[in-house]
Formats: sequence, C-alpha cells, structure tokens
Amino acid sequence: MNLNSIYAAFQGEANPFGIGEPVIFVRLAGCPIRCYWKTLGVLCDTPEALSKKSGETLKPAEIAHRAHQVAEEAGGIKLICLSGGDPLWWPELEVNDLLSNLLWKRFSVCVETSGVIDPSPYYRFNNTYFIMDWKLKSAGIKGNKMESIAPTLRENDYIKFVVYDWDDYQEMFNIVQDLKTSAKSVAGVYWNGTIDSFELFNQLKKDKLLGKIAMNFQVHKLAYPDYELIQPKMI
Ligand code: SF4
Repeated sequence: MNLNSIYAAFQGEANPFGIGEPVIFVRLAGCPIRCYWKTLGVLCDTPEALSKKSGETLKPAEIAHRAHQVAEEAGGIKLICLSGGDPLWWPELEVNDLLSNLLWKRFSVCVETSGVIDPSPYYRFNNTYFIMDWKLKSAGIKGNKMESIAPTLRENDYIKFVVYDWDDYQEMFNIVQDLKTSAKSVAGVYWNGTIDSFELFNQLKKDKLLGKIAMNFQVHKLAYPDYELIQPKMI
C-alpha cells in the first residue's frame, strides 16, 4: 500500500463522532476518478494523493504502527480517518489487513470514500464507519454506484452531497425523494461554487428537506493556516 501522508488533525466534516473530534488522518495514495476535471477544469483539494504511486510503500501493519505512534505523540488519539484518494481502491486483502491492524490497536475508523467502490465487504469490522460521496453532476463522474450502495449502508454511515450549483441541488432533491437508506445524508456547498451555505440551508428548508438532510461544513478549511494551499488546483 502507498501512504501519502499521516498526521494528527480534527474531524472537519460530518462523521459519527462529531466535528472537532481529534483524529489521525491516514491518507492513502490513489483515486480511480478525477472529480471536477472534465466539468470545471480543476482537480479536487487533494491532488497530491490522486496517483497510486505517490507517497511511501508500506505494509498495512506498518501503516497501523505509524498511526499508533502519531496518535500517542499527540496525546492518545483514538480515532482514525482513513482517507485518500480513495482508500478502498486498494485490493480488498490489503484493506482488510489495514482495518484489522488499526482495530487491534483499539482505534475506531471512519473511512472517507468516493462512492464508486462498494464498501460492504468491510461491514463485518466493528467500529468502522463509511462516509460515502454521492457525486453530483458538477463532479463529472461516471460509474457512481451510490444507487445500489445506499440501501446497504448502516445508521452510523453517511452519504455526503457536495452542491456546486442549482443543477446539483435539483439532482440531490430528486435523489433524496426516494432514497432508501439507514445512513444519514448531509449536504454542503462546493468551495467557490455558485451557492453559499445560507442559500443551501434556506432552499432545504423551503423544500421541507431538513428532516432528511443535515448541513455539512468543511470546518478544517476555516482553521487552516494558509487557505490558498487548499484551493482546488488549476492545471
Ligand atoms: S473521489 Fe475524492 S480524492 Fe478522488 S478525485 Fe474525487 S474528491 Fe478527489
């Protein structure tokens, strides 16, 4: 497996432990898709992690060991955010191995994933929760599997919508009308999109969707010391 980066941080987005919870970010390398590239001409905010060859090649047990070290150095963090890229793009055997090692070290794990890879092979792991992106039109992605994945998700899993414009909003509106899932749905706006959070909230309220969708924010970006560094990259 290739590890792009590992560091202590706090949860900035919706997850079952709450925003602000201290966490070790374990960012694996590689993502099978390129959100926003075809539609907006930009890459997402983790372009450094999109190539599977980026970072350092390590065994899953070595990654878990390193996570434990970073967690202890930070005072005993108990939560892992396994992110990427898309961490589920690695072979199932290796993801199994990584999750087993992290859980053996008594971490809980939130897995942030793209929505194009089925997480159900990993439901057997305790204390492991999935935050699934449901890519809307502006992301320009084909092969989104969320229609079939959503009904399998559990009550502490999350479906995340990122709304760039009113076309995205309309698509999300249509999706949630018939959505059958136990997971919680959250929606946030794209950084520099054409809708702001107040407009999104007011429209959800007007459409009587606040019983179905909660708001999501990227609070970590507000706390980031150099905001320019985390802007989507033009290439
Ligand atoms: S799924 Fe995530 S990591 Fe992959 S391109 Fe999209 S935003 Fe970036």
